[in-house]
Amino acid sequence: MCGIFGYVGSKNASDLVTKGLAKLEYRGYDSWGVTVAHAARAIVDKQTGKLRGKVASLPGSHVGLGHTRWATHGGVTQANAHPHVDCGERIALVHNGIVANDVELRRELAARGHRFRSETDTELVAHLVEEALAPLPPTPESLLTATLAAFRRLAGMNAIVVLDALTDTLAAAKSGSPLVVGFGEGEHWLASDQAAIVEHTRRIAVLGDGQAVLVTRDSARAVDVATGSPRALDVTEAAWTDAHVGLGAHPDYMTKEMHEQPAVWRRLAADDAPLRELARRIEAATDVVALGCGSGFHAALSAEYLFARAGRRVRAMPASEFSHFARFTGPGTLVLALSQSGETIDVLEAVNAARARDARVAALCNVPGSALTRVADLTVPLGAGPERCVVSTKAFTAKLAALILASGDPDDSKRLVTQAADLAGAFLDGPTRTALQNLAARLVHDEHAYVIGRGASYPLALETALKIKEVSYLHAEGFAGGELKHGVIALVAPGTHCIVIAPEDETKSDVLAAAAQVKARGAVVTAIAAEPHPAFDHLIRVPDLGVASHLLGALPGQVLGYELARARGLDPDMPRNLAKSVTVK
Ligand code: GLU
Repeated sequence: MCGIFGYVGSKNASDLVTKGLAKLEYRGYDSWGVTVAHAARAIVDKQTGKLRGKVASLPGSHVGLGHTRWATHGGVTQANAHPHVDCGERIALVHNGIVANDVELRRELAARGHRFRSETDTELVAHLVEEALAPLPPTPESLLTATLAAFRRLAGMNAIVVLDALTDTLAAAKSGSPLVVGFGEGEHWLASDQAAIVEHTRRIAVLGDGQAVLVTRDSARAVDVATGSPRALDVTEAAWTDAHVGLGAHPDYMTKEMHEQPAVWRRLAADDAPLRELARRIEAATDVVALGCGSGFHAALSAEYLFARAGRRVRAMPASEFSHFARFTGPGTLVLALSQSGETIDVLEAVNAARARDARVAALCNVPGSALTRVADLTVPLGAGPERCVVSTKAFTAKLAALILASGDPDDSKRLVTQAADLAGAFLDGPTRTALQNLAARLVHDEHAYVIGRGASYPLALETALKIKEVSYLHAEGFAGGELKHGVIALVAPGTHCIVIAPEDETKSDVLAAAAQVKARGAVVTAIAAEPHPAFDHLIRVPDLGVASHLLGALPGQVLGYELARARGLDPDMPRNLAKSVTVK
């Protein structure tokens, strides 16, 4: 859950690395740091807080390495920020992951006289590399040898990158977490995400788990971590360009990404061949389990409801809970994994557990070449382009559009999804936005809000509440309307805001009854619905588009969360404590 960016070439490494980190900050933003090689020493500048326009103050160098941190071991302090150096400050190291045997290794190294400057699990790896490097001649090869030796001692899923200031070289090794190598003429890059590299080169190779790489100005070559034998790097053209990655004229990434949604839905509807194949595999499986985390889990729940309508049983669960049920999977099982990044550790662990039992895996995934796409038997690319706002918007509705298309009649669902795309503009900029701004103004000083939905609107209620809480910190809970009387109604007092999702489907009369019940207890009811009703105090109008109403119904939660965040003076792109790609347990 961190951003890593490294460079070896002939340009100013400090500037280049700092700029690269800015593109990776969505991965973690507790603190940041950059190191460069200067006069055979690794010089480090590291600071707490967000990077946001700051520059590292470092001497000129052609080799550099940086990191944006999401702390797991040790508080958010300057000392704990990466990079971490060895005792002699010859090498500097950055790390993504958790060293599961950190206590033993740290004790062992301290007993041998190493001096620790931080509380992190990361720093011990720098000392392990230092020890392995000490007896070797000062060559790039030696850095690779020492990095392999150190990495083999680590338990857990990790990625490390080491800068050797004596040989102007970078070496990396990984057992989890993404790393991409960028190839140029007389220069090479290493980064957690291709989005940070495509500004410089579109020739990239994704480093596989269990691989290490030695990167110099003129070459990048990979080896197997376990054996040290050469492994080919598959150099391909990056899927994204820098134009996809940039902000354009938008004030922030959340706005940009919300506005990209209609085009994403249109593209999915226009080329639904992969989704028809997914539908066939779902039909052919003896059982189907849909898995995801956060918004991905809500999309999995949508799959459960949407396929139920089509007469097909799909069970949804958070990917992190799958291990308790893995023994019920077998050769006939299809695991449908829903992930924006394709690197979420809980999804990857679940998928690997299912594969170990000979289950098949289908992925709905947004990042081409990610770990999930490499293990899946079938990948349907979401094609939403890079999502940099930590709060998922376009990747969630892309999954929802894909599920509507895969579960419905091909012609009808294509027509409805395209119609939803045509109407989405009004939500994002027109009168609906004004209505949501007014709702945000009413909610800005509240502490709680509740969101009610039934049937396929239940996952939307959960997602709406999640959007509100993660971006604005207003406590919002989504729940199934039928559960209201079984507990939650105790929380409703005069003035409590309740949002009810009441589309023109079989759930409508029950949801209206729920709206009437909370209103009778003094709640202020805002409805996401096609028509007004006496139980509604306010209406966010969503035209009836059959099953595609859910796509439009997902937008008010995004816009409301955004407007609330702005009204509360918060940064919508980087909410506190969150990071986008959750690569640690
Ligand atoms: N475990 C390391 C730390 O707490 C790495 C965290 C990360 O992946 O950003 O510093």
